[in-house]
Amino acid sequence: MSWEQNVRRAEPYVAGEQPRRPNMIKLNTNECPYPPAPGVGKLAAETDWSALRLYPDPDTTVLVKALAEYYGVDREQVFVGVGSDDVLSMAFMTFFHSGKPILFPDVTYSFYDVWASLHGIPYKTCALDENWHIRPEDYRQPNGGVIFPNPNAPTGLMESLETVEGILLANRDAVVIVDEAYVDFGGVSALSLLEKYDNLLVVRTFSKSRAMAGMRIGFCIGSAKMIGYLNDVKFSFNSYTMNLPAQLMGAAAVKEDAYFKEITGKIIATRERVKGELGKLGFSFPDSMGNFLFATHERIPAEQLFQALREADIYVRYWKKPRISEYLRITVGTDREMDALLAFLREYVEKH
Ligand code: PMP
Repeated sequence: MSWEQNVRRAEPYVAGEQPRRPNMIKLNTNECPYPPAPGVGKLAAETDWSALRLYPDPDTTVLVKALAEYYGVDREQVFVGVGSDDVLSMAFMTFFHSGKPILFPDVTYSFYDVWASLHGIPYKTCALDENWHIRPEDYRQPNGGVIFPNPNAPTGLMESLETVEGILLANRDAVVIVDEAYVDFGGVSALSLLEKYDNLLVVRTFSKSRAMAGMRIGFCIGSAKMIGYLNDVKFSFNSYTMNLPAQLMGAAAVKEDAYFKEITGKIIATRERVKGELGKLGFSFPDSMGNFLFATHERIPAEQLFQALREADIYVRYWKKPRISEYLRITVGTDREMDALLAFLREYVEKH
């Protein structure tokens, strides 16, 4: 008998690589190419950090208050965590406890099945249609909860608010989580449905549109009842999940709305321009509303392109998985970065 027989076996999520090379172009993990709002650095420099000797506020009041004000909801409707991964994992633990399978798309954020397995939650995937859209009828079967990103990852495709509401209507007795990690790049949020549906949880992150992936801040908004249940689980797990700098800097970022709109606007403009340019090079892709494109070439295998780009120090994301092995997910960077990518691809496509 070995101690290893008693170990919980988990198959972990494989995060995109984080290379640190001097002149690399990093378009592989959907980070923001622009720095955080100027007020964030200013606050970091001007704060008296002697308060770090104390535990941080377990209720993360400053950040919850800033978010509640920004989104026009009650403070009791907001829950924050260490990145939306933390929020999502807590939500899986809290809301998907029925023993019945939860439902999510077959092509989606690849952490969902990992959390389901870790927390012992049965799940069933629902195949997206041939245009990468959700088939709403799939979500009318008995289930223990529903989760999908909107816009979806890695396709970038947005489902309409009508589709989201249809899924909510069909699942009044289960929690429906809409993961809006990428909604700030031109998507339509389900937040407006919160008043009608107390089983809806909308999850957001500071990692993409607020340029703070390194700070690890995520949050969700739902009915006060749901947030209460989430807090009970969180406080049964770790009271002090979010450190003091993250609480303060997160609140500072939320207050700089003009900067937020400026950088998300720039990313949208770059994305739309790159769509046109990639199209001319023989690429096709779903009409992404995220800060990334999910592109396939008419002739050149995706894996070959991925390797060639990597050798040129241009990092994009590639999955050797059923249905998506001919696609590259390319984060929208600055105009300069995208021009370098396009220049490389132009030459490569011509030669191959
Ligand atoms: N949801 C989706 C759909 C994502 O793509 C990501 C980023 N990997 C996350 C959630 C998690 O982001 P974070 O933990 O940085 O907030």
